[in-house]
Amino acid sequence: SSKKAHLNGSSAGPSTSHSNSSSAKAKAQAIQEQRAQLPIAKGKDKIIEEIRKNEVTILLGETGSGKTTQIPQYILTSLFPSLIGITQPRKVAATSLASRVASETQTPLGSLVGYSVRFDDRTSPSTRIKYLTDGMLVREMMADPLLGGYGVIVVDEAHERTLRTDVIIANLKKILRVRNGGGGDDGAKGKGADKAPFNPLKVVIMSATLDAEKFSKFFNNAPILYVKGRQHPVKIYHAAQPQLDYTDAALRTFFQIHTDQPPGDVLVFLPGQEDIEALKTSIELYAKQLPVDKPGVLVCTMFAAQDPSHTSAAFLPAPPHTRKVILATNIAETSITIPGITYVIDTGKHKSKHHLSRLTGGGFDTLLTTDITKSSASQRAGRAGREGPGVCFRLYTEEAFRAMKDADEPEVLRVSLVGSILGMKCLGQEMVELDMLDKPDMESIASALKTLWLLGALDNTQSLTPLGKKMSLFPLDPPLACALLASSSHPPPTTSHVLTLVSLLSTTSKPFLPLTAQERERLHEKTDTSSSNPRAAFTHPHSDHLTLLAAYSAYSEIALTENKASRRAWCRKHGINERAFLEARDIRRQLVEVCRRAGVAVEEGQEKSGAANTNTGTNTSTSTKDWEDWVIRSLGHGLAGNSAFLQPDGTYKQTMGQTIVKIHPSSVLVDKKVPAIIYDELIYTNQIYARGVSAIPKSFFLSLDAFKQRKA
Ligand code: ADP
Ligand code: MG
Repeated sequence: SSKKAHLNGSSAGPSTSHSNSSSAKAKAQAIQEQRAQLPIAKGKDKIIEEIRKNEVTILLGETGSGKTTQIPQYILTSLFPSLIGITQPRKVAATSLASRVASETQTPLGSLVGYSVRFDDRTSPSTRIKYLTDGMLVREMMADPLLGGYGVIVVDEAHERTLRTDVIIANLKKILRVRNGGGGDDGAKGKGADKAPFNPLKVVIMSATLDAEKFSKFFNNAPILYVKGRQHPVKIYHAAQPQLDYTDAALRTFFQIHTDQPPGDVLVFLPGQEDIEALKTSIELYAKQLPVDKPGVLVCTMFAAQDPSHTSAAFLPAPPHTRKVILATNIAETSITIPGITYVIDTGKHKSKHHLSRLTGGGFDTLLTTDITKSSASQRAGRAGREGPGVCFRLYTEEAFRAMKDADEPEVLRVSLVGSILGMKCLGQEMVELDMLDKPDMESIASALKTLWLLGALDNTQSLTPLGKKMSLFPLDPPLACALLASSSHPPPTTSHVLTLVSLLSTTSKPFLPLTAQERERLHEKTDTSSSNPRAAFTHPHSDHLTLLAAYSAYSEIALTENKASRRAWCRKHGINERAFLEARDIRRQLVEVCRRAGVAVEEGQEKSGAANTNTGTNTSTSTKDWEDWVIRSLGHGLAGNSAFLQPDGTYKQTMGQTIVKIHPSSVLVDKKVPAIIYDELIYTNQIYARGVSAIPKSFFLSLDAFKQRKA
């Protein structure tokens, strides 16, 4: 109502305004009113007072109460720190929240308010509020162990307990001791700063769940503040029977809501991008068949790999006579609050990181679709009751709900420690010695140390080698950094190709779209490009990695001449996720920079001709064969822990463990027998599959020091 009053007060009137400045002013006013109405606004003075008084403050608040968007602004205008860093476990959350806060402050993104995520930095010297992923802050710590540039660090979404957030929390405790000199509260204030050798630091830990005692105890009984949210009642329905196909169940439930229930937007929680895209297609298909007098349907999506410009659509009100449905991953659980939701459909599934080969080496984690926890289930239901009473449809039975775990284990207990331990070694820290919220078990530390030794990052005394130090300069998984560095011992254009490959392996979503069963059948029909195998033109007989390189090279070729629409059509025809290719191109550009700084020579320009030769299939000049072999050998250095040998019985057994692995049906090597393979990852379904596979000469392993020592 006050919003209306303002609009009426403007000279042009509410709907006929053509003046940009007055409509911009109205918009700004509306945003300020919206801010003032957030539950957190009432507590502002009290919160600021506590933050001012204490070195560490724990802040708990219902999702959507305004923690992430408001607290940094409050701190900026009350405490005037040089720079505030706010960590987020997810990249999309960091970018989307930064652009929201930039618009709230009416400044262009990247000036006062910016973000920094892997391979994408939107900050400038004038930035004072910086949203960044927890991974980026860990990287920054490696260059600046005391985080001297920051006056305040806000650790957001601490309840998620990602490994990197835990590492940050552990380090903050150490940093506070150094920068604030032993923890006297007054030392952190005004004049005290002159006496301290470093400028003081303030820490705010924010969480959406009630489990905050642990954080408080960890930080010497830091005060806990609660922000009361506005939560309306949500009626919860469980499925009567277990649902075999959750996307199908979600589709049916959505249309039941759409035809039977009063207006209100719908939020559907799904595990990942593929499910989201599949459901979007089918909802849109059915919506077309609705009678014309029925309201229309607008489908929005929200997932990690989504183009940030698409994310904002979910926040806009639906057009008249239309029901909006947002298909999201657990991003929408606590990280990003979408307004206007009345109905939630919860599939009960999410993707979570797990390390499958902890005991057998290998440095990568796998995303597995698993059941959510009770705590996630109640967060998801809660999304329906933000602005009024809501309804949540759980696509699982009440028994299934009761069987769920209360909360997930912290990541430190279930993911690979390879990257974190390498980072710590660079800081001169040992994970076993670091005071952490939860201690990882010795076995997984030992496994990570072994992998780092295998990569040549650590020597026999577990000390960091010059190579390990160099690996840590790259914002890559250590095995990929290792492959890249190994490539520099081969003649050009090997490094250039390996650089392209590691970029392709670092994208948020996979470059190749999943094959249909029929396409998998035809995977080997290489000669006929019109066959139903979309990748036929690029298929390398022994390597998924070289297949990927050939596809990327062909894409780069056509991208030189073709327009956007025909590039897109080309990608669709060849089963390629263009977004991943564009992202890889971006990543590569930045890695070239890192290579330059790290003194790794990248010979540009020759790459294209070489890769193009593989496409024709006719040119088998020795030079092509040579660089292919060198690319695989370079990769072999990084993936030595992810390798398996063919057994006499025709199965593949891990070289570093006892596990029997099968080659994934999507691989060009499926059903083929080669003496030795390397692979990107293991995935569990009913069997253990290796995905992203290449054949490698068995003799390669005999040349590795690590293998020689192992045999000895
Ligand atoms: P919390 O961190 O406590 O969960 P947030 O600060 O993220 O809360 O959200 C506060 C409010 O800002 C919510 O009502 C949310 O809907 C709104 N909001 C956040 N991002 C956007 C955006 N991009 N567009 C519009 N509203 C947004
Ligand atoms: Mg938040």
